[in-house]
Amino acid sequence: MMNKFILSTITVSLVFALSACGDNGDNGTDGSNGINGSNGSNGTNGTNGNNALITQTPLPVGNENCLNGGVQIDSGIDTNADTVLDASEITSTQYVCSPAATSVNDSELLSSLNNPWFKQGAAEIETADDVWKKIDSQLVNNANVSIATASTAAEITALKGSAKNVILFVGDGMGISTVTAARILDGQNKGMMGEENQLSFDKFPFSGLAKTYNVDAQTPDSAGTMTAMMSGIKTDAGVLGVDENVVRGNCASTKGIEMITALELAEIAGKSTGVISTARITHATPAATYAKSADRDWEDISDMDIANNPERANCEDIALQLVNFEANLEARYTGVDVDGIEVVMGGGRRHFLPKDAAYNSNDAVSTIEGDRTDGRDLTAEWQAKYATSAYVYDQTSFNAIDTETTPHVFGLFNESHMQYEADRKNDIAGEPSLSEMTATAIKVLDNNNKGFFLMVESGRIDHAHHAGNAYNALNDAIEFAKAVQVAVDATSQEDTLIIVTADHSHVFTIAGYPKRGNPILGKVVGIGETEPSLASDDMPYTTLGYANGLGFRNLGAQTDADASYAAAAVTGRVDLTDVDTSTAGFHQESLVPLDSETHAGEDVGVFAVGPGAQLITGTNEQSLIFHVMDYAGNLSGTAQ
Ligand SMILES: [Zn+2]
Repeated sequence: MMNKFILSTITVSLVFALSACGDNGDNGTDGSNGINGSNGSNGTNGTNGNNALITQTPLPVGNENCLNGGVQIDSGIDTNADTVLDASEITSTQYVCSPAATSVNDSELLSSLNNPWFKQGAAEIETADDVWKKIDSQLVNNANVSIATASTAAEITALKGSAKNVILFVGDGMGISTVTAARILDGQNKGMMGEENQLSFDKFPFSGLAKTYNVDAQTPDSAGTMTAMMSGIKTDAGVLGVDENVVRGNCASTKGIEMITALELAEIAGKSTGVISTARITHATPAATYAKSADRDWEDISDMDIANNPERANCEDIALQLVNFEANLEARYTGVDVDGIEVVMGGGRRHFLPKDAAYNSNDAVSTIEGDRTDGRDLTAEWQAKYATSAYVYDQTSFNAIDTETTPHVFGLFNESHMQYEADRKNDIAGEPSLSEMTATAIKVLDNNNKGFFLMVESGRIDHAHHAGNAYNALNDAIEFAKAVQVAVDATSQEDTLIIVTADHSHVFTIAGYPKRGNPILGKVVGIGETEPSLASDDMPYTTLGYANGLGFRNLGAQTDADASYAAAAVTGRVDLTDVDTSTAGFHQESLVPLDSETHAGEDVGVFAVGPGAQLITGTNEQSLIFHVMDYAGNLSGTAQ
């Protein structure tokens, strides 16, 4: 139903707008009537006009009959009276082609405008904006509301579009329990009891909750959730930058339903743009900022199994879309001229290099670092496009970036994901931390006086949870909070909107009745007690735990959480009496044995500061985040 609704809306508007072109097509129809002239004596048949059917099919940009897209109109007589115009019944086919665009208009940019999720988000912004205009005068004396120096409705109104810069921080898998536990661990690392500590974004004046489900999933994945945040529409799990009419794994199904992202709007608006992740830069969360894909797993061409699915040859793998970003965006919107993503930093070098040991870097972990089976070296292709820019892959070359004179930076610091923060010292050639990457990115991006859009993902909070290892999840969350503080310090809340959130949660719990200041990675010790509380099985238990996953491991000083995948899931309870549960290598027990701990379906927190931050309040669909960024940065308005 949804599909038909959207398609008919598009066709009606195109036919209406291009009636002159359509008239020419009509003349073609008259030609076929001429053939029927001999039947003219059957005048009574003329009343059977009801049997004439017309179907309209939208054509994507690039269609051989309409290079700029348009509509194919098939007409004919329903001779078998089944109310469907079968292929054999088509007597005339016309094409109503869109003209080449000379400027980008609203409906072209926001292909999502008719999407119900998108409309809901836009309406929610208007409502929230009205609320603030009504209660504005009450804000002046509220010390917590640092943004609200605005004291009149006019000043609230002026906040719209006043964010020159927009930064979106995503802690992948950083549910509420992860935020709380990281806050406590960070405080205890600083010598506090812990609970009273504040992470950088705990201090932000506005927060709300986001509902994370995907259109087809109660508990979501990162591809669908990040598409919601970046494009303002909810979609299916596992797909990137396309709406819910996509069929996962079907390349053709993405054509015509590509959704524009906040990063693309910022790029068209002339701002600088950046994407940073500690995961592979082709992984779901970063990829949703720049790629359109029927499957998040198509990170390079070797992942697409084109041999058995030849139609996928019509889609680009995600790494290729990143390197072709500028050309692809310009091809989608005729007349648009952009200069490419200025800062790209993360892991995932294997998806950019040929499967040939000759291309290995001195940071290689595998015998053959590259995965690509098409022989293309995309790092070389990127350098050919941006000759005055910097391609970096280790700490030394990262440190050497001249942030004032380098227009583009491409950093691929690991073959796969970057290291966990606690494990970073073990990287072969060295790699920067998330906060170091954030600092460098902002220094490069802020050279543009039109401002910038930056997305920063801590991708491995999620991975440590999947591995059932709270130590690494919390240490990566603490580093993430540090990166947020770097951004706060490097920008002004007068002109920079910073939003911090998660794409989804994990089945991670803070349990029992530990006393105040009890070590968060420790065993539960009750109020007034000095020895661990015992469960009904007479064994102690940890405060932190997982509802499912691989369960208990005692790997001592091991700082790579993924070491847990070497053994099968441990079921049932383990006697932890003599186990130090605070080490890097301790993995918490889990209830349901699974080969990987899972995401959780509850809401996640959204924290905001800067112009437009006041709209982050209440409980909303995750797709609202796009609309807040668009409101604050006037991204779609400036892009036109
Ligand atoms: Zn995950």
